[in-house]
Amino acid sequence: MRLQYVLLFGCFILLQAPVNAQSELILTQTEQNFIDSIDEIHLCTDPDWMPYEGIDKNGQYTGIMSSFHELWSQMMGKPVVLIHTDSWEQSLAFIKQKKCDVLSSAQDLAERRDYLTVTKPHIQYSLALATHPDIPFIINLAQVKDKKFVMVKDYAAIKLIENNYPDLTIIEVNNAGEGLKLVEKGMAFAFIDTVPSINYQMLAYGVSHLKISGVLDEHYDMSVGIRRDLPELLSIYNKAIDATNESQRQQIMNQWLSVTVQYDADYSLVWKLLAGLLIILALSLYRYRVIHRHNHELQAVNKKLVRMSQNDQLTGLPNRYYLHEAFEKALQTYHRYQHQFSVIIIDIDHFKKVNDTYGHTVGDEVIKKIADMLSDNLRDTDIVGRWGGEEFLIVCPETDNVGARAVAEHMREFIAGTDFGLEAIHITASFGVTEYNENEAVDECIKRADMALYRAKEQGRNQTIVF
Ligand code: GH3
Ligand code: MG
Ligand code: MG
Repeated sequence: MRLQYVLLFGCFILLQAPVNAQSELILTQTEQNFIDSIDEIHLCTDPDWMPYEGIDKNGQYTGIMSSFHELWSQMMGKPVVLIHTDSWEQSLAFIKQKKCDVLSSAQDLAERRDYLTVTKPHIQYSLALATHPDIPFIINLAQVKDKKFVMVKDYAAIKLIENNYPDLTIIEVNNAGEGLKLVEKGMAFAFIDTVPSINYQMLAYGVSHLKISGVLDEHYDMSVGIRRDLPELLSIYNKAIDATNESQRQQIMNQWLSVTVQYDADYSLVWKLLAGLLIILALSLYRYRVIHRHNHELQAVNKKLVRMSQNDQLTGLPNRYYLHEAFEKALQTYHRYQHQFSVIIIDIDHFKKVNDTYGHTVGDEVIKKIADMLSDNLRDTDIVGRWGGEEFLIVCPETDNVGARAVAEHMREFIAGTDFGLEAIHITASFGVTEYNENEAVDECIKRADMALYRAKEQGRNQTIVF
């Protein structure tokens, strides 16, 4: 049979059997008269109790019970119209006020009896507990009776639990999402509902890390609620329930629990997971880029620091610290291969006069020029650095006194023969040379070179003395 959805009063949805369809049920005359006297059956539901029943975002009646009511509507040959409500409480109020004829699923509770009757149960669900995953399996509620439990307000199951466990603390919430969140946050011990409902709601509300840690003996018998003043409708519904065979029942359950619900749920879960993964990926990429950029900057700063720590700022030559390292290397080679090495200390003669006559800046230029001359004209293996103010030091690996003297003389003559552009002053430098003696400390060697330099100064400057 073809089903149609008809919009009524803008927000009412029809679950409709074809107009004028004959009932498939064998009805008494009274029942038949009743059916013939009405155009449609008005149904109220719980708008938020998936997977059992609900009103989806398009205003359509959905869930397990919608399939049962659709089937029964076909059996009765009458359209069933959803009367839209915002809550289960409103649905209860509506049936009391006769705004609807049928409550899609209801329990037989004493306080509802003056306005509501219920059909025979047509399906049964056990109640279960959803808790944090680290809670051990609970066989009986008596085990955890001092804890706080959460249930959705006004559900008949609350009465069922309260009757069996009068001391239990039950926090009532507006919907399953609220209840699950309370448990998730540790504000309640367990959320009580049926297994399919808990599974469904956890997915729907994105609560993923609670688990079902107990299935209770208490179960939920689902009936259809019928207005008390419509006894014919009650007996018709009971006949429809009787006429519902096991395979139809299973088909509906499978459709909602294993196919549709799972599919929808998995689908949304996949999207959530994908979105999560994308966010993680984006964050990782961003982090990688930030770290990469920082590393890059750090490397540049480090290089600069290394350069600054090893080189003299004015001349760009290795500084005193680096010269000490050069010494250490030469010393290692000396110990390993007995290769001689020498040291030359250079001091610019009467440099104060340059500063005094031409100023500090010109003095700097002279120091830089001599630095360039030294680094450009020494052998590749020689290491020259700025030792101090206007003093330089050369480490000459694999070189004895004789070789070092030649190097020094060559540089001295080169400096003395260079025009520094200072008319009043002829720039020269003095050189102290010495070779490393076995077993002495590096400082002793340098001190001896210094003494040679001092001697050169004493003897009139612009000369090389070897010690
Ligand atoms: P001598 O070595 O021949 O005995 O005479 P001197 O005039 O060179 O004497 P001394 O070595 O004692 O003085 C060195 C001067 O060099 C003192 C200082 O003001 C100057 N000086 C040291 N470092 C720098 C620098 O980086 N730039 C400039 N312009 N002058 C410097
Ligand atoms: Mg000096
Ligand atoms: Mg000097």
